[in-house]
Amino acid sequence: MNQMQEEVLSRVAANNIRFLTLWFADVSGVLKGVSIDPGELEDAFTEGIGFDGSSIEGMTRIYESDMLLRPDASTFQMLPWDEEHRMARMFCDVLGPDGEPAYSDPRGVLERQIKRAEELGFTFRVHPEIEFYLLRAVTDLKSEPEPLDRAGYFDHVSGGMAHGFRRKVVSTLEDMGINVEFSHHEGGPGQNEIDLRAVDALSAADNMMTLRTVINELANQEGVVSTFMPKPFRDEPGSGMHLHLSLFEGEENAFYSPSGQYQLSLTGRRFMAGILRHAREIAAVTNQHVNSYKRLWGGGEAPSYVCWGHNNRSALVRVPLYKPGKSSSSRIEFRGMDSAANPYLALAVVLAAGLRGVTEKYELPDETEDDVWMLSDGERQAMGIEALPRSLSEAVHLMANSDLVADTLGEEVFEYFQRNKRAEWTEYRRQITAWEYEYFLNIT
Ligand code: GLN
Ligand code: MG
Ligand code: MG
Ligand code: MG
Repeated sequence: MNQMQEEVLSRVAANNIRFLTLWFADVSGVLKGVSIDPGELEDAFTEGIGFDGSSIEGMTRIYESDMLLRPDASTFQMLPWDEEHRMARMFCDVLGPDGEPAYSDPRGVLERQIKRAEELGFTFRVHPEIEFYLLRAVTDLKSEPEPLDRAGYFDHVSGGMAHGFRRKVVSTLEDMGINVEFSHHEGGPGQNEIDLRAVDALSAADNMMTLRTVINELANQEGVVSTFMPKPFRDEPGSGMHLHLSLFEGEENAFYSPSGQYQLSLTGRRFMAGILRHAREIAAVTNQHVNSYKRLWGGGEAPSYVCWGHNNRSALVRVPLYKPGKSSSSRIEFRGMDSAANPYLALAVVLAAGLRGVTEKYELPDETEDDVWMLSDGERQAMGIEALPRSLSEAVHLMANSDLVADTLGEEVFEYFQRNKRAEWTEYRRQITAWEYEYFLNIT
């Protein structure tokens, strides 16, 4: 065992931990966990804990189902919402029976991409803004749910639940070593946002998984429902997960150039050009559900077109406000991803797209200052502004032809992901919706 693993062992003893849950994600980004007795921990670090991978979405083919979980000691945290049971968690890497990293592990997919960035001399830093809705207890899954309040953007709801709820989420996250920068009510009724401080991409993805879990646990304790569904209400904004991104070279922000437009360096421009050029083919990963495309095409400040701007909230990528001379504030904001994505896979494809822009020296197209939703199709075409996919079906089709996504996800995840998403689309297409009944049965 290494020193960090030894340290975890002593913290487990010192805190009298009763259960250790080992966390990992399936290909859809659903959190999986198994609890072990602290007595098993040393074995878990040295040999891994066996599990049946064929029972986990996308993990393995049935004939090679024996997989291993090896906890990442650096992610050890107590679970503050369940003190009574003295629980702690660690995220795990998934290994094949031979002890080598499993190609089907989403966390491993991101780790491989991070290693590529490191080989080029870069650390990828991510600060996510995560939007979600709080709803009243759902009793009927067939109609629109009821939001918890009627407040809007930045509203302070006195006496309402949202404020207290956010405060609880923030302190729980802080207790788990996750730093929160902002939290506020968002534009939709019952909609909230929590912004995490920039950290390295692997920690950022782990943090997104933790945040979703914390929010769901606390909502459950309060008897309300939280959802990261991309577009829960037809007439209200969807829930995006905007990503503020930068590459660092050692201590230096490689996106910072005091003389660059908006203080953005050539590396920053190329990285942004990479994301723009590949945005359509990575969309199936950053927006993985049928419902994701209702957000992208349903207004509410969600991006529908591929372009970039500065103070332009209709743009897919934005160079946000920066502080003059402050190098750490140089970054770009990718506004496409939604809150229901698998954070490991999504960060991996975003990083891969950006890096391709850097290594292939892509030229950044001109900035778009117009509100692109207000332009006509002809105007957008003349400006070379393409549309994001309009449906999951179109997105999966674009992904299937993408060597970038294939290389990034690796063969197993690439194949499985498409199969899974095609099945979702096929199932959706079979549905006869309330809208259709209304349309056809009300006309006579
Ligand atoms: N909810 C919007 C989206 O889906 C973002 C709104 C905002 O943060 N300004 O992307
Ligand atoms: Mg925000
Ligand atoms: Mg927001
Ligand atoms: Mg934002």
